[in-house]
Amino acid sequence: LPLLQIKGVAKRYDSHQALKTVSIDMRKGEIISVLGPSGCGKSTLLQLIAGLSLPDEGEILLDDKVIASSKGMLPPEKRGVNMVFQDYALWPHMSVLDNIAYGLTIRKMDRSAIRDRVTELLDLLQLNGLEKRLPPQLSGGQQQRVAIARALATQPALLLLDEPLSNLDMRLRIEMRTEMAYIFRKLGTSVFHVTHDPEEAFAMADRLLIMREGEVDQVGTPQQCYSRP
Ligand code: ADP
Ligand code: ADP
Repeated sequence: LPLLQIKGVAKRYDSHQALKTVSIDMRKGEIISVLGPSGCGKSTLLQLIAGLSLPDEGEILLDDKVIASSKGMLPPEKRGVNMVFQDYALWPHMSVLDNIAYGLTIRKMDRSAIRDRVTELLDLLQLNGLEKRLPPQLSGGQQQRVAIARALATQPALLLLDEPLSNLDMRLRIEMRTEMAYIFRKLGTSVFHVTHDPEEAFAMADRLLIMREGEVDQVGTPQQCYSRP
């Protein structure tokens, strides 16, 4: 059974059809990268999965439960889906530690269990020694590592990445795309990743979803997509 099923989803803004019947299934533990030029509908698709907007047609199922259709949606906080944004969106007044622990604290997880989980994430994302800093005291790459740690802390069923490396310089992008793919595979995290950067998509994805003008142009492994004209 697929983890995520997107079935004939369409979305229109006023007179513009941003998505025209997009369908794809994703299995648990898979990393899918959605690739395509600006305006092809990547963010719109991600927002539908995240619960930030409603489809006009079709439905989205997570673990075989309908989470979105034209009739309504399960609210974002009840989906088991976390998102990492291009601009990190950390809480600037909270320490690195408190940012990462936030989702666990509001779920009233046991304090020693929170400490263990946060320690594991600090190790995994190479953030040791930065626990007490505030986000404005970190580099862009470090902020994005904290945002990823925060999103992983609650062990979401699905992690959404919206152009996660776009604000970083080229050297960091190359370093982090390899590292992120390693971490997600190690943890078995299911990832739906949106980018306009082909190299990032090819480096991270098990499968690519290549979009064009609101439609799916190609779906396949990087190898399959690369060898097609
Ligand atoms: P991408 O993420 O691939 O750049 P988007 O999903 O953001 O594409 O946008 C798809 C199309 O829908 C674009 O033509 C964009 O201008 C349009 N669009 C996106 N959001 C809105 C909106 N809130 N209102 C009107 N048009 C929108
Ligand atoms: P990206 O290309 O990184 O996805 P965009 O610049 O397309 O980002 O969109 C950024 C935000 O602006 C999104 O929330 C999108 O829904 C909104 N947006 C995009 N195009 C339009 C539009 N034509 N009218 C209104 N809002 C839009």
